[in-house]
This record gives sequence, structure tokens and C-alpha cells, in this order.
Amino acid sequence: MTEITDLRSDTVTKPTPDMLQAMFAAQVGDDVYEEDPTINALEAKAAAMFGMEAGLFCPSGTMTNQIAIKVHTGPLTEVICDVTAHIYQYEGGGIASNSYASVALVNGERGKMTPEQVEGNIRPDNLHHPITKLVALENTCNKGGGSYYTIKEIAAISEVCKRNNLALHLDGARVFNALVASGENAKDYGLYFDSISVCLSKGLGAPVGSVLLGSKAFIKQSRRVRKVFGGGMRQAGYLAAACIYALDNNIERLKEDHRKAKLMEETLLQMNYVESVLPVETNIVIFKLNQKYNDAAFINTLAEQNIRVSAFGPQMIRFVTHLDVTDEMLEHTLKVLKSL
Ligand SMILES: *Cc1c(COP(=O)(O)O)cnc(C)c1O
Repeated sequence: MTEITDLRSDTVTKPTPDMLQAMFAAQVGDDVYEEDPTINALEAKAAAMFGMEAGLFCPSGTMTNQIAIKVHTGPLTEVICDVTAHIYQYEGGGIASNSYASVALVNGERGKMTPEQVEGNIRPDNLHHPITKLVALENTCNKGGGSYYTIKEIAAISEVCKRNNLALHLDGARVFNALVASGENAKDYGLYFDSISVCLSKGLGAPVGSVLLGSKAFIKQSRRVRKVFGGGMRQAGYLAAACIYALDNNIERLKEDHRKAKLMEETLLQMNYVESVLPVETNIVIFKLNQKYNDAAFINTLAEQNIRVSAFGPQMIRFVTHLDVTDEMLEHTLKVLKSL
């Protein structure tokens, strides 16, 4: 195949002609004045989906997470999260840099913490310790290989948070992958989280955009922080239109990405160069190579066949399926994997 099969991330998708048409037709205004009707519609729509009061459109998931952390925490305080969490591993040390907060890292199971682990990391009221303020979950868990929390698991962690007066944030960059896989209802999330970050630019296929959700008071404060972070955009309704299109059209089809990832897992499990594969639950396939290939050589070999994938640590490789991976690309990938 001459066309590139790009499995590095679900961020690589490009707008379809229909999405571009929706962008082209958008009504826009100045969003710093809160006068962009398309952004206002997106914020209201996303908030309603998750049973939240209000939303805030931002340029990236890093920004929505960092705004939420800054509003919930501050100097002398601490965030509890899994050691694999994106907010800790992949946001440039933003928790320290933006919020001056400390982090308590939990060794969860494939990115997932138990209520007991969360409770065990809450600091006693003692001047030697930082003040625990926030618990942050990630759903799905990227470094956990796309594993996900069920509503029942989330409810149990939320109970610990409420009992200890802690806020609960969700990094929901791939929350729709979790919801489609579990068959659960987005609205129930509003019962348990104080804030939710949702990316539209991953599996949902919008070119740019994330939405932060929470109470009216939380979003009011978040809007201030967004301005300070330089995220107050003007006629960005053209981008929000793509996000609305994505919410209307691209959620259910995530099942297709999950099916493709599962087929890749099944093939990899049979290959003599694979040591192990993290159980595939959604659209992420993380596996470990044995000594037959080192990761750089493996990536190069696939690149020669026009397949692009990511290194994910020593001997570790990540594939991510998404809406620009066609059936033909899947067949090509499986064929190449079997030929190595
Ligand atoms: C991609 C991602 C984000 C946000 O990334 P941006 O590139 O800043 O939009 C946040 N959390 C997780 C788990 C992610 O995978």
C-alpha cells in the first residue's frame, strides 16, 4: 500500500468534507465577549451530555486539564493521580509550573486507581504535609493501553472524595471510547465529577478543540484562567462547528476503531517477536517486543511498509486506531505484522 497508515495517535485525523462543510457554514462572533453562537452551542451541548451545568471551549486537552487543576488546587496543596496519568507524564510539569501544587502518585492497575489507593494517599491534617485537594482520574487510560473505569468504579472513588471534601476531576480525552465500550451513559458522569475535560480532536475527529465541563461557578473561574493561559480565542466558532459535527456523527463509530484494535491484538498475540500485549479494551494497542527486534528497528521496518507507529518506552510500541484507518489499512497492517 502506498498510502500511509498512521497509527501513531488518534490525533492525526483530518476533517472530512462534511465536517469542513459544517465549519464553513458556522455562525461566529467574539468568544472573549461570549458572543460566538457556535461556541456557546457546543459548550451547552457538551455540558448537557454529561449532566453538567456549563462548559468552556479550549484549544487543547492539556489546557482544559491544567485550567481545572489550577482552579481546584494551589500552593501548599496536592493532587492524587495514577503514576501513568497524562496530567503528570505528558503536560510538561504543568501541575508544578501553573498551580504550584504537589502530586501524590498512585501505582494503579493499568492506569486505574482503587478507592482504597485514593483514600490511602489522602494526607492527614498535619503541617508537615501538603493539603490534599484534588483527585484526578483518566478515562480511558492512555498508558494503561486504553483501559477504562466503569461508572460503578467511578462512583466508589467519588464517595471517598465526597467524604473527604476533595474535588474529583476527569481527564476524559478519550471518554467516549470508554462510554462506547462500556455502554454506559455520559449523563451519569455529572453525578460524580466536579470537572470533566473532553477532547474532540482525538477519536472524534475534529481538527482542534477540547471542552471543560463543571458547575457555573467553576466555569466562571476557569474562563479567567483560560484568558491568563492565552486560550481566549475570538471567532473560533469555525472550530467549534467541527466539534459539534463530531459529537453528532462520530461517537457510535468508535466501536469500529475498537474492533480494528482488537484484531491487531489477536494477530500480535500469535507473533514470535511479541513478548506481551496489554489487554485491548478500546482503540489503543500497547505491546512489548522480545529480543528479536529492538523498538527502533521495528518502527523502521513498519515505516518501510508505510505504517507509522509510536515508541512507548524500551521495547514498547503503541498503535492507536481512529477514523482515518480504513479496512484496507487494517488488512495491510495485519499482513505486514504476520510477515515479520
Ligand atoms: C491527548 C490527551 C490529552 C490532551 O492532549 P492535547 O494534545 O493537549 O489535546 C489529555 N489526556 C490524555 C489522556 C490524552 O491522551
